[in-house]
Amino acid sequence: MCIFCDIIKEKRHHIHENRLACSFFDSYPVNPGHVLIVPKRHVKDYFELTKEEKNEIDNEIIFLKSKLDDEFHPDGYNIGINNGEAAGQTVFHLHVHLIPRYKHDVENPKGGVRGVIPDKQRY
Ligand code: AMP
Ligand code: ZN
Repeated sequence: MCIFCDIIKEKRHHIHENRLACSFFDSYPVNPGHVLIVPKRHVKDYFELTKEEKNEIDNEIIFLKSKLDDEFHPDGYNIGINNGEAAGQTVFHLHVHLIPRYKHDVENPKGGVRGVIPDKQRY
């Protein structure tokens, strides 16, 4: 049983899809417009994806970026994948987080994804 397989199968919350991937809003968004892009095939992490799936995921990212630009007007984006429990993964169906960033959404954004280990974010 996989929550993301259910969403894909039932076409629940879909905002867009292509042949091998689909996208939906994260239900606990870290910022307005936070979306998840997932392969339709159940794989646990990035390293199990085929080149074709990576390509279709990338097409979704590019499409969604332009849609989010129009709707949310963010100032930047973080794109991230948690691979494995030690890296923070909680849903074990690969998903790419596409997170719009807004000026002043944090006091000092320097270091961005380095913040996965909070006291190493600044360098
Ligand atoms: P991760 O920690 O990278 O495995 O992220 C799991 C993400 O899935 C989190 O950002 C959750 O907010 C999100 N999430 C969990 N359940 C759902 C759901 N039913 N629909 C949409 N997003 C979800
Ligand atoms: Zn799944």
